[in-house]
Amino acid sequence: MFQKVFQRQALLMKALANPKRLEVAQLLSQGQLTVSQMERMLGIRQANISQHLMVLRRQGVVVTKRRGKEIYYSLAHPNFTRALELVRAILMKTFGGEIARAAYSLQLVIDPICGMKLTPANAAQSYFFGGKRYYFCGAGCVREFKKNRQGKK
Ligand SMILES: [Zn+2]
Repeated sequence: MFQKVFQRQALLMKALANPKRLEVAQLLSQGQLTVSQMERMLGIRQANISQHLMVLRRQGVVVTKRRGKEIYYSLAHPNFTRALELVRAILMKTFGGEIARAAYSLQLVIDPICGMKLTPANAAQSYFFGGKRYYFCGAGCVREFKKNRQGKK
């Protein structure tokens, strides 16, 4: 009878056992997103993302909510975030520095000018100001940011 539990668990973990789907889950652990937002952040085609989302949805990893014209994806349970963190903690312990540094770049950051959600890994540029590093979608926002800061000094 308990074998059924392991079978179910295997199906669930199989849905997550894909680098891109783990990346999707990681992004969603920091808030709900639309497919087009994920497309920008992951740099893969929308059709591709939709396919991954379908797998995740079928196994109950993600859920959707419609708001106006947009469909938002989010994790179905907060424990998914914890589960991913726990596995990464094991990774860092096993493989050390490089993985730990890479794990940092998974954090979600907000472009302070246009408000676009980015990861440090996919931000076009970053700029160090006042003891803090800011991330930007492109050169236009960096320019705007520098202009604003100089005005406020
Ligand atoms: Zn921007």
